[in-house]
Amino acid sequence: MSDHPEPDELREEALRAAAHDLAMAAWRGDATREELIAAIEAVRQVPIDIERMVNALHVPEDAGEHEAALRALLERIPDGWGRWIRCGAGWYRILARLEERLRTIDPDYRVHQIKEKFGTLRFYWTGRNYAVGKTAVADAETESARTCEVCGSPGCLRTRRGWLRTLCDDCANTEGYEHLPDDDE
Ligand SMILES: [Zn+2]
Repeated sequence: MSDHPEPDELREEALRAAAHDLAMAAWRGDATREELIAAIEAVRQVPIDIERMVNALHVPEDAGEHEAALRALLERIPDGWGRWIRCGAGWYRILARLEERLRTIDPDYRVHQIKEKFGTLRFYWTGRNYAVGKTAVADAETESARTCEVCGSPGCLRTRRGWLRTLCDDCANTEGYEHLPDDDE
């Protein structure tokens, strides 16, 4: 019985496949407008309740001791933005500290997006005392640039086939990432 996937899993599989096809169509420089539209339509036709998924609270399974802080951050994301934290567990400690700082600056601050981009943390938010909060956010983003995104040890920016991540030596080895060429000179 357990070999049979649940309807939710089937739908997620279909969504992944359609999204993959769309990404490939968008990635290829020579896809025609019709091919792109067909790929977008295929994603739209997957019978999945996007609104329910987007507004659900996606507390990361590996949140560990930072679960309460991450949940608090996700609860500050308004409907429609998608309540996900799109970065590795190595930065959860940074996020927990930032949540604490921002909460004291403005108890009602809102979060729009939390993600990794170009190897560092990006934290999009709004609130009162924005200038003060901005410093707290900048501190967190700066700290992410020297913290391994996987394990939280000291790290630096690495590359693998054009992708950038901040990693420690061990995690870089495991993930096949190398120092940026400029770092060696
Ligand atoms: Zn690491």
